[in-house]
Amino acid sequence: MKNITSLLLISSLAISSGCTIMTKAQNSNAKVSGNDPALAGNPFMQKSSLQYQVPEFDKIKDEHFKPAFDYGLKQQLAEINHIVNVRSVPIFENTVLALEKSGEVLKRAQTVFFNLTSSNTNPTLQKLEEEYAPIFAAQEDKIFLNDRLYQRFKAINLNSLKGEDRRLTEYYLQKFEIAGANLPEADKVKVKKVNEELATLATQFSNKLLEARKNGALILDDVKELEGLSADEIAAASADAVKAGHPGKFLLALQNTTQQPLLQNLKNRATREKLFKASWYRAEKGNADDTRTILERQAKLRMEKGHLLGKKSFAEWKLQDQMAKTPENAMNLLAQLAKPGVEAATKERDEIQQLIDQQKGGFTVEPWDWNFYAEQVRKAKYDLDENQIKPYFEVKTVLERGVFFAAEKFYGITFKERKDLPVYHPDVVTYEVFDRDGKSLAIYYLDFYTRNNKSGGAWMNNLVDQSHLLNQKPVIVNVFNYQKPAEGKPSLISYDDVTTMFHEFGHTLHGLFADQKYVSISGTNTPRDFVEFPSQINEFFALEPAVLKNYALHYQTKEPMPQSLVDKIKKAGTFNQGYSTTELVSAATLDMNWHSVTDASQFRPALDFEKDVLNKYGFTLSAVPPRYHTPYFAHIWGGGYSAGYYAYMWSDMLNSSAWDYITKHGGMTRENGDRFRKYILSVGNSVDLNQAFKDFTGSAPDLKPLLRDKGFIK
Ligand SMILES: [Zn+2]
Repeated sequence: MKNITSLLLISSLAISSGCTIMTKAQNSNAKVSGNDPALAGNPFMQKSSLQYQVPEFDKIKDEHFKPAFDYGLKQQLAEINHIVNVRSVPIFENTVLALEKSGEVLKRAQTVFFNLTSSNTNPTLQKLEEEYAPIFAAQEDKIFLNDRLYQRFKAINLNSLKGEDRRLTEYYLQKFEIAGANLPEADKVKVKKVNEELATLATQFSNKLLEARKNGALILDDVKELEGLSADEIAAASADAVKAGHPGKFLLALQNTTQQPLLQNLKNRATREKLFKASWYRAEKGNADDTRTILERQAKLRMEKGHLLGKKSFAEWKLQDQMAKTPENAMNLLAQLAKPGVEAATKERDEIQQLIDQQKGGFTVEPWDWNFYAEQVRKAKYDLDENQIKPYFEVKTVLERGVFFAAEKFYGITFKERKDLPVYHPDVVTYEVFDRDGKSLAIYYLDFYTRNNKSGGAWMNNLVDQSHLLNQKPVIVNVFNYQKPAEGKPSLISYDDVTTMFHEFGHTLHGLFADQKYVSISGTNTPRDFVEFPSQINEFFALEPAVLKNYALHYQTKEPMPQSLVDKIKKAGTFNQGYSTTELVSAATLDMNWHSVTDASQFRPALDFEKDVLNKYGFTLSAVPPRYHTPYFAHIWGGGYSAGYYAYMWSDMLNSSAWDYITKHGGMTRENGDRFRKYILSVGNSVDLNQAFKDFTGSAPDLKPLLRDKGFIK
């Protein structure tokens, strides 16, 4: 995420396709003169005195945020005012650099704040978040729709600049233009109004959806209906029912996605159908939780915004600074994945139907049956039982002997645990990272365990952004939601959790190896369709033989995982890929179509619009619905992924293609590691990223390796 606005929107969203990555706006070191007594002792008023400016979590209190925000917002506006009032001719230093360095206190406070609101929040922080969301968004408009500021940027002679100076200037110019700074004043007023309404609608959508999800929970009377769930799951359902005011009953809460994890185990087909329908129809009941009026208005307003900003559609406006560049390029990728995805899903459906028929089920597979029978197919076909695997994945062994070991082998970096730096929760662990030449490189925090005040999913966050200008080294945190073991018990995680750890560490590497002068174009501050590339490619290391045999050790016997089990994990890798590809690609296709409308007459009521799109693009398997149904597609209506959901698939193409290059050139060698670091991980957004990819592999990204990884082609 590149700017404060999208960060704000994203931070309130539990994304469940791939992880989210939350990087934040730039820091700067403009001089501060906060003599206000209300600010005395406020740790955000100056740089942290700790190593690499790691946050002083032992001093930071909830009451420090509000005064720091208020002061920081004013300070930044004063700095902007100063830039536009400078009498001398606009040059890089007095304009671009001055903007880059503005808002030091604000950014410092925001960085810590957004980390806490997602990983360790409380009612005070939640209230502050609501209060300041529109204020932070308006601050962005005050900067990027400021005509006098924009005119100064335009007056700078680009040809006189080179390297990062030129790239940073171009970056800001594009940001101004995307915001609408070059519009006539009357249109700018319209854009501001549209932005305001869109911000309000997104909040309304999220609030309604939260209620819809809560109220949509399935309540069951009889424990028999829960057959197949574990004793713990049944106990939780009973406790949740009490909390919701239904003592003696059982409550199954809804997850964000169409499919519900419990469907995999529920033996009672009628219960499965009820749970699935509770999920699917949650936000279209014609009551107060119905989101359709809001999202239909959002789609129309976004189209108008695209038109105001001189584009045919919202998607065309949104994609101009992304790797894909145009909606056509994104749709082209989706179409190439859709066909083999649906074909594979059709085969999977036939296998499931066969199993149902063998068991004399006497019905046709429906979406609520899919995971229940797919799990049986998986066990029969691959003989893989999760309980056999877990004892080999102890969390700290996976981290130190797996994730760190792979990074040492490929990149030459090393790690040392630190116990002396303050943390925001006792479960957080800290490491210092050393570069290939032995020099200290960064501080890295990990927050492994789930808490009821932590957002779902897993993510990476920069606590201090790398910048040579500001003399800042990276300080990074990875947050997970692993089950915390009982006191004295080992923390054993699933293979999915293992790949998540490698994934988030891939984002961390992207932050660690950042080598830029300016924060705005440093590290993970890249387009959305690039940012999941470094993380997804790092997942491949989890199954590299040399790595796996180093970390997959039985927690009691320390014996390595038997080869037969390793082979099963590998073989099961392509299982159910038809389903998971089709549900993702159909959701991305819906998103792109909602935002590619060029004329208001093309809009139809939400459910009809969705049906038309799914039919038009061949997503007609009724047992394979999209991962998100339009009324609860929070990524696009409540989050920053509008016309952007395709980014997960785009990044996936890049990572399979690049991994293909690596395996064809010797695999896990230091030489390949250095090369990947040089061309991909260290460049941030300081170069053209399509070119960076070509520099690494020698050619444009190729889709075939991804199709092969998914098992669609040989
Ligand atoms: Zn990610």
